[in-house]
Amino acid sequence: MGLPLVKKWVDAQSDQMNKIAERLERIRENIARACDRVGRNPNKIKLIVVTKTAPVESVHQVVRLGCTDLGENRVQHLKQVVTDVEEFIASESQKAALPAKVNWHMIGHLQRNKVKQVLKLLSTIHSIDTLRLAEEINTQAGRLDITPKVLLQVNCSGEPQKYGVPVGAAVHLAEQIATMPNLKLAGLMTMAPLTRNKDVVRSCFVRAREIFEEIRGEKIVTNQFRHLSMGMSQDYEIAVEEGATMLRIGSAIFA
Ligand SMILES: *Cc1c(COP(=O)(O)O)cnc(C)c1O
Repeated sequence: MGLPLVKKWVDAQSDQMNKIAERLERIRENIARACDRVGRNPNKIKLIVVTKTAPVESVHQVVRLGCTDLGENRVQHLKQVVTDVEEFIASESQKAALPAKVNWHMIGHLQRNKVKQVLKLLSTIHSIDTLRLAEEINTQAGRLDITPKVLLQVNCSGEPQKYGVPVGAAVHLAEQIATMPNLKLAGLMTMAPLTRNKDVVRSCFVRAREIFEEIRGEKIVTNQFRHLSMGMSQDYEIAVEEGATMLRIGSAIFA
């Protein structure tokens, strides 16, 4: 009696694994098409796979499929998934051609008292939105003798419930962060409002790009300031058209 059930489970698993591969493929095609429309090079766009809702098997699958940039929005979950993926890579490295390592992106709100716990694990923090958070990361990074990449999160939609520095304060905060020796200010991040109205979404991305260009024109930032992290499952094609260099996509892959 047990065996058919096991077989069913295995079939369902491999079905799900195939679906993830197909969805990823379709997303890459959509990115390429959006790039074509506006004359951009798809190789200049990094896909960050957001694993926050995904079961471990599915996370393993995207790593198997060659995804090297993964994103999380919660400190607790981040720590678990990082450990799990490290073990997975270590255990399967003989059998399959897995990437040697994965870069972790913190994409969600980060509390100052959690910085110390996760800083070592992260390659990029997308969600800097106050001077005090930037200062804390700079201090902790100094102790660890590392220079993490950080992005300034801008609230381009103006929704009061959203995290992010208000548009009017972004340039000034960027200038302050740029002076911190243990932070690499690598660009901006934004989230469009949840709406089906594509014009509203697009104007949000356009505003982010305008602020990005304005800051890039300032003498204070270096040429490391080159990333625009915007675009999620519902709006990544618009984000590509408007200049995104990092897309953060979860549900369209794991659904
Ligand atoms: C969850 C999340 C994403 C991914 O959202 P999907 O709609 O699942 O693609 C991107 N950015 C942030 C900040 C998130 O919290």
